[in-house]
Amino acid sequence: MSILVVGSVAFDSVETPFGKADEVLGGSATYFSTSASYFTDVKLVAVVGEDFPDEHIDKLKGHGVDVGGLKKVAGKTFRWKGRYDYDLNQAHTLDTQLNVFSAFNPEVPENYKDSPFVFLANIDPELQMKVLEQVRTPKLVACDTMNFWISGKPEALKKLLKKVDLFVINEGEARELAKEASLVKAARAIMNEGPRILIIKRGEYGALMFNGKSIFSAPAYPLENIFDPTGAGDSFAGGLMGYLANTGDLSEENIRKAIIFGSVMASFNVEAFSLGRLSSLKLDEIRARYSEFKRLTHFEDI
Ligand code: AMP
Repeated sequence: MSILVVGSVAFDSVETPFGKADEVLGGSATYFSTSASYFTDVKLVAVVGEDFPDEHIDKLKGHGVDVGGLKKVAGKTFRWKGRYDYDLNQAHTLDTQLNVFSAFNPEVPENYKDSPFVFLANIDPELQMKVLEQVRTPKLVACDTMNFWISGKPEALKKLLKKVDLFVINEGEARELAKEASLVKAARAIMNEGPRILIIKRGEYGALMFNGKSIFSAPAYPLENIFDPTGAGDSFAGGLMGYLANTGDLSEENIRKAIIFGSVMASFNVEAFSLGRLSSLKLDEIRARYSEFKRLTHFEDI
């Protein structure tokens, strides 16, 4: 089954303790689409400016991503500048330029409107809502956001959450959104706003899923070399949603497997700047790392 995604397509400038990259391909929807493309068909809704090179669009097409909903308009592409210190879990935003996104009025192409899976990747919650309103009867609507929108557009985000089945959010942002220090209390407060499934991303400590009364804890892969955490959250969401859409199975057991596929994709993504590693994966490598996750967490009953 296919996934419709809306989110940012961007130029990122990133500094980590291990190096820097200037104006490289990034954006929440770019990472998501590339990651999910290993599992299923992806249809992209976004906007770029005239400065966005066709090679980048070709890269997405090379992954089989449908770019019929990616508009190129007059103006400059979205830009994000960030820095990470040795605590790679914490991105410090230095600059955000919405550029062509500030006047974007998304029009979902007709052949996208019956997409059973919808991912509202990190972008203005008003745009996320405008896209969602054009989709007919989705089987699963999932959404991500970040501190920029939690503090910038709290009302629009609150309205959107009522329409979302599955919400993925960073640990720090979950606490900020719920105004709770305890993650369990934060999770309950957020789920009271709408989503029935909540996945809290905890960077190098893995992810926690809250699904009704059940809680699942997934580890992160213990990597020796991490170069750039940018896009880890979106690659995670791509693996998660990609696997769910590929199988069409929304049982608790299958969502647990999907979370591990998400963790696998995030672990590959952080091994290089931009989409350096994510865009050149083999299915065998993905399967092998999934098995390593299983061995990593397996223990016998008492
Ligand atoms: P993450 O997966 O959380 O590391 O997200 C990284 C991506 O989010 C980067 O490639 C940025 O281009 C994008 N990004 C950063 N800030 C924003 C924002 N305010 N709205 C949409 N996308 C953003």
